[in-house]
Amino acid sequence: VSLLIRGAVLDGTPQSIRIKKGRIVEIAPGDTEGEAGRVIDARGLHAFPSFKNGHTHVSMVLFRGYGDDMPLMQWLQTRIWPAEKHLTEEDVYLGARLGILEMIRGGTTFFNEMYWHRRAIVRAVQEMGVHALVGITIIDIGDAELLARQKGEAAELIEERRSRRASGASIRGAPATVSTSSGATTPSNGPVSASTGWPAAGQGVAELALAPHAIYTVTPPVLKWIGEVASEENLPVHIHLSETSGEVEDCLQSHGCRPTEHLDRLGLVGPRLIAAHGQFLDDAELARLGEVGATVVTNPSANLKLATGGIFPYRAARAFGVRVCLGTDGAASNNNLDMLQEMKLAALLQKHREQDATVLPAGEALGMATTSPSQAFGLGSGKIEVGERADLILVDLSGPSTQPVHDPVSSLVYAARAGNVHTTICEGRVLMHAGKVEVCDEREVIESAAAAARALVARSEAS
Ligand SMILES: [Zn+2]
Repeated sequence: VSLLIRGAVLDGTPQSIRIKKGRIVEIAPGDTEGEAGRVIDARGLHAFPSFKNGHTHVSMVLFRGYGDDMPLMQWLQTRIWPAEKHLTEEDVYLGARLGILEMIRGGTTFFNEMYWHRRAIVRAVQEMGVHALVGITIIDIGDAELLARQKGEAAELIEERRSRRASGASIRGAPATVSTSSGATTPSNGPVSASTGWPAAGQGVAELALAPHAIYTVTPPVLKWIGEVASEENLPVHIHLSETSGEVEDCLQSHGCRPTEHLDRLGLVGPRLIAAHGQFLDDAELARLGEVGATVVTNPSANLKLATGGIFPYRAARAFGVRVCLGTDGAASNNNLDMLQEMKLAALLQKHREQDATVLPAGEALGMATTSPSQAFGLGSGKIEVGERADLILVDLSGPSTQPVHDPVSSLVYAARAGNVHTTICEGRVLMHAGKVEVCDEREVIESAAAAARALVARSEAS
């Protein structure tokens, strides 16, 4: 259960990082030798904190490239919504595995999730050893039966969480002994001795959140109920907020106030609020979100691709003390889950918006993917420091597109790509090493998801 990373470049100098029970216990200069359950020779590789994806719909990788270059409503109405009607729990599971695999390859060890069939996503998270906050998605668009089902599911999951906490039981998943209809998956690392109490590889952690889709898909009484449950149970609330100007205008017309104030009146604005997008937040809204310690997650690729017309007011958000994280959104509107690409795009877009090259420098972009989400989601400092969770990556910057390295953070944010990530470690567990993913049969994951996606689209188009 101990891991020694020898001689990785950290803050410009070679360091050896010792990890025990998921925590960094020592950082020593140079290339330290020593006893450890596993030793990784990281000489010449750069160590960085792993990325945390602040907003996604992981299983939507199934719709990657299905209906690009279409206006938002036409795309939703003719492609996504009809196909989602045919989506099964197994589809969601297979899609989640593919999305998680892509994230592991790109150095991401945590994601904040909102989609259907929560249990299928949790299963994929647990098997593949990553961490996630998986929301119970709630929409309320006049379908009483659907709403009752969602409320029932929420009550059930909250009850499970309560009894788990009362019994002091681990929130971690059961050991992965996986056998699916699409083939068996067995993590290559064997389970760790039960006596250590430390989870084996293939035991990821999925925490619970409430995820009302948006103010235009959830009615005020249901939003109010969500706010009450969230405060009673101390659960995060993950919602799309102020993604389009239409949402703001409709809110002004229907409720006589802007979206943040609407949520505030219903009791949802507080430190537990995780608002995705926030493109059209004005100063008063940002001030309120900053004052209460809420989090906003910006998703530049999806916003640009769907031509929603705004650019997130990053400078103002920071000035008002809003915690800003970065997300990829789903792969249907991105079309990948690559946090490196997202960091670069976020930085470039803000420089363009403000006509100021000093805005959102590389270090801040990295913080939006590491330290900010770690604070928002309770994952520690998000830095490589003694006592912190061992969530880190080793990046190979020796190739032609990243050399020379004058400044490792700049090389990472502006020049590196997912393919430069060499090793991904989540809470001390090696998910990928030297480009080899160790927590699944990669071919099987890719092929079964692609087959499920083809069958899903065929079912949808035949109906
Ligand atoms: Zn979204």
